[in-house]
Amino acid sequence: SAAGLSRIGLAGLAVMGQNLALNIADKGFPISVYNRTTSKVDETVQRAKQEGDLPLTGHYSPRDFVLSIQRPRSLVILVKAGSPVDQTISALSEFMDSGDTIIDGGNEWYENTERRMRQVQDKGILYLGMGVSGGEEGARNGPSLMPGGSYQAYLNIEEIVKKVAAQVEDGPCVTYIGEGGSGNFVKMVHNGIEYGDMQLISEAYDVLKNVGGLSNSELADIFDEWNRGELESFLVEITANIFKVKDEHGDGELVDKILDKTGMKGTGKWTVQQAAELSVAAPTIAASLDCRYLSGLKEEREAAAAVLKEAGMAEAARPSVDKKRLIDDVRQALYASKICSYAQGMNLLRAKSVEQNWNLNFGELARIWKGGCIIRAVFLDRIKKAYQRNPQLASLIVDPDFAKEMVQRQAAWRRVVGLAIQAGISTPGMCASLSYFDTYRRARLPANLVQAQRDLFGAHTYERIDRPGAFHTEWTKLA
Ligand code: NAP
Repeated sequence: SAAGLSRIGLAGLAVMGQNLALNIADKGFPISVYNRTTSKVDETVQRAKQEGDLPLTGHYSPRDFVLSIQRPRSLVILVKAGSPVDQTISALSEFMDSGDTIIDGGNEWYENTERRMRQVQDKGILYLGMGVSGGEEGARNGPSLMPGGSYQAYLNIEEIVKKVAAQVEDGPCVTYIGEGGSGNFVKMVHNGIEYGDMQLISEAYDVLKNVGGLSNSELADIFDEWNRGELESFLVEITANIFKVKDEHGDGELVDKILDKTGMKGTGKWTVQQAAELSVAAPTIAASLDCRYLSGLKEEREAAAAVLKEAGMAEAARPSVDKKRLIDDVRQALYASKICSYAQGMNLLRAKSVEQNWNLNFGELARIWKGGCIIRAVFLDRIKKAYQRNPQLASLIVDPDFAKEMVQRQAAWRRVVGLAIQAGISTPGMCASLSYFDTYRRARLPANLVQAQRDLFGAHTYERIDRPGAFHTEWTKLA
C-alpha cells in the first residue's frame, strides 16, 4: 500500500462490520477500521491478529481513520440504520476529499441513501448504498453484496467486493445493481422474500407436525432429505439442524421450548408497504408479515384459544393421513408456494425499476443470491435462467419450465392446503400463494361484479368485453 496507507476503511464494528472488515483483510486488502466505542476497535485488531495476522489497523478518531486510507478513499459504514448513519457520515466526511466514496452497508431505507447521496455531492463525495446479506457468517466468509449508486464508486471497489463476496460456479455474488438507492431496495426485497421463505417453511413444519404427527427427529430427517433435492437451500439446511438440537435446560429439543413470538426489524414491512405503493400484489410476503404481527399477540392468542377451542381441531379431529404421501405433498406445496413468493418479489422489483429507471437485471439478481445470502438456494439458478431466456418475463409462474412444475405440483399443493384447512391449522403463506396462482391463471375473474357495484353506487363507469369505451348505467332504474 502507498506509504503504508490502507486500501479501504470500515467504520462500525458490531457483528456485521467486524466480520466484513476481517473478510476484506483476509482477501489481502489492507484495511483501516474505526468504531465510535473504541473497545470494539481493540477487539477487532485482536481478532485480526488471532485469525492470521491480517492486514488491519485500528483507529480511534475519525480524522486518523480517514487519513490512514489511500486516495481516492473508499469508506464502508456498517452502523445501525437511520440517524447513526447520518452522524457517522458527518463525523467522517469532514476529513474526506472530492473523489472519495462512502459505502453504507446497512439495511437502510433507499430514500435515506438517495438523500445522503445528494448531501455529499457538494463535496464531490461519491456514494453507494450496498445491501449486505448472509449475517455474521456471510460477512466473515463471503456475503452476497448488492451495491447501488455511483458507478464510478463501484469501479473503485470492484476488485475488492468481487473477492470478498461469496463465490459460486458462475462468479462472485456481487454485481453493480443500478443507480440511486437501488442496492438498498433490492436488499429490502431480498429480506421480504426471506420472510416468505421462513413462513412457508414454518407452515410445512406445522402441517407435518400437527397433521402428520411427525416427531422432531423425523422432521430433521425430512428436511435433510429435502435439502438434497429441488428445495436445497440454506434455510432448509439450517431448519434440519434446528430440529436436532437438544434443550440444555430440560428434556427434548430446544425448538419446542422457544416462545412462539417472532421479532422483526422493518425490512419486511417496508417490502409490503412498497408493494402496496406500487400496486403490486405480494400476498405471500404480506401473509408472512401478518403472521409475525399475530405471533406477537401471544397473550391474546392464548385467551382466544380458550374461547374458540372448537376451532382448534388439530388434536381431536386430526384427519387420518398417509404419512409418506403427506410428506411428499408438503414438499411439493412448499416448492410451488415458494415460486409464487419469488414471482411476487421479482415483480415488485420490476415495478420499482420501471418507476425509478434503474434498469434492474433480474437474472443477475437471482445469480448473486445463489451464494452468501440467507435465501441462497439451488433453485435460484433456475430463476436466473428463466430471466436470461426472457428478460421481459411477465411472471416467473409463466416461464415454461416453472409453469410446468407448478401444474405438476398443484394437486399435491391443494391437498396440503385443504387438509390444513380441515384440521384448523393455518397455512397463510401457502394459501396466499395458491390464491395468487389461481387468481393469476384465470382469464376471467369476478371483478366484473365489483365494477358493476362501483358504477352503481359511484358512477365510476366500466368497460365492456365486447365493445370499446367507458359505460355508465342507471342500474337502479333498470333493476
Ligand atoms: P447494529 O446493532 O445495527 O449497530 C451497531 C453499530 O452501530 C455499532 O458499531 C455502534 O457503535 C454503531 N452506532 C449506533 N449508533 C451510532 C451512532 N449514533 N453513531 C455512531 N455509531 C453508532 O450492528 P449490526 O447488527 O452489525 O448491523 C449493521 C447494519 O447491517 C445494520 O444496518 C443492519 O440492519 C445491517 N445488517 C445486519 C445483519 C445481521 O445479521 N446482524 C445482516 C445484514 C445486514 P457503538 O459500538 O459505538 O455503539
